[in-house]
Amino acid sequence: MTNERFVYVQTFGCQMNVHDSEKILSILAEHCYRPTGDVRRADIILLNTCSVRAKPEHKVYSALGRFKKLKEKNEKLVIGVGGCVAQQEGERLLERVGHLDLIFGTHNLHRLPDLIREVQAGRAPVCAVEFFEEVQSLNTVPMPSHGEKVTSYVTIMQGCDNFCSFCIVPYVRGREMSRPRETILEEIETLSKRGVREVTLLGQNVNSYGKGLSEGLTFSQLLARVNEIEGIWRIRFTTSHPKDISEELIRAFGKSRKVCKHIHLPFQSGSDKILEMMNRGYTGDQYLETVEKLRESCPEIAVTADVMVGFPGEDEGDFLETLELIERVQFDNLFSFKYSPRKGTKAARVPAQIDETTKSHRLGILQELQKGITLKKNRALEGRCEEVLVEGTNKVTGEEMTGRTSSHKVVNFKGSPELIGQLVKVRIEAGYANSLRGKIM
Ligand code: SF4
Repeated sequence: MTNERFVYVQTFGCQMNVHDSEKILSILAEHCYRPTGDVRRADIILLNTCSVRAKPEHKVYSALGRFKKLKEKNEKLVIGVGGCVAQQEGERLLERVGHLDLIFGTHNLHRLPDLIREVQAGRAPVCAVEFFEEVQSLNTVPMPSHGEKVTSYVTIMQGCDNFCSFCIVPYVRGREMSRPRETILEEIETLSKRGVREVTLLGQNVNSYGKGLSEGLTFSQLLARVNEIEGIWRIRFTTSHPKDISEELIRAFGKSRKVCKHIHLPFQSGSDKILEMMNRGYTGDQYLETVEKLRESCPEIAVTADVMVGFPGEDEGDFLETLELIERVQFDNLFSFKYSPRKGTKAARVPAQIDETTKSHRLGILQELQKGITLKKNRALEGRCEEVLVEGTNKVTGEEMTGRTSSHKVVNFKGSPELIGQLVKVRIEAGYANSLRGKIM
């Protein structure tokens, strides 16, 4: 291929960003840019960023600091920032980081080749953070990233209308926008032909899929359509909002063989006072009721969630209510964070901010509690036979095979690479804090 160039993409944040990075590589591949893992070889460096919490945002600035030397050595090098930090900061980011060439916001992925050309032609920084009525990159089908790929993300919607008081997403990703059913189904059919066996339907709030489309299709109805696609054996989705989960969707877990026995259902806090301040739209009891219904519909369902400590105004009593909810639900796993104020959100303006020491102390207690529950749950699987979709070789040991159960637990076992892409039965021999070990049957 002539004029071949290299692009290095570094991703921060959630699955949406991971998937957007795949799309970026796909879009640029059409313009002769090949991905590289070696930043020194790159003609273009792109950071796909996250601003949901302070930590990943800080990491972006330190990465940009490291790339300054490369730019000094190679003035043709194009350095760009996309994603949520780009959307949030726009021109300010260009002012703050002198060696930055390009800012592309969350609705501007499809414009990347033109924007890069603009930078190269003028060598002046370019900033594209407009929101569009229709997000073209929603329909971009990423190229397969490696031969072993048997699972894939598929975006079904993006943006959010919920405006939780702590969250920056509605401001940086825009309002909810669903992707037409036909383009989703076509993409999944293509993936199936390429050997993908498991799809994860992605969106900030998948439960409200269909809003604004003339098709009148609910999320559960979309699931039913995906369920019919030959070659797709497993369907996952994330993220679900507890207030928007329908009875129809709850029933789908028990009814469909392809819908995996796992739900990620962020609860954020166990205190009704804090949930109201967060504008979450449910109480602790309502959340518990939803989990109960899910377990009635599918007794083996694994439940994971996001939770935060130290939301402004959270007192000791509120924190204890969060611990109580964790005890009652017995989550399979939790993603726990310290609240960090996000500029422009309502919660950031609440005067009763909690100090860092208290937040760290609470987070430590919460994580210790969950660690015990996760280990207990994983050990309870010892002796059982689980169906595992083999995803590849274990990157740490390099010898074993690795895959996931329907309940999304990682299982490592001895086997050969020919098993990749197959569903195998594995007897679980040991349950650890983060994974299971088993023996193929
Ligand atoms: S539901 Fe709330 S937390 Fe989730 S993306 Fe929307 S605003 Fe953010």
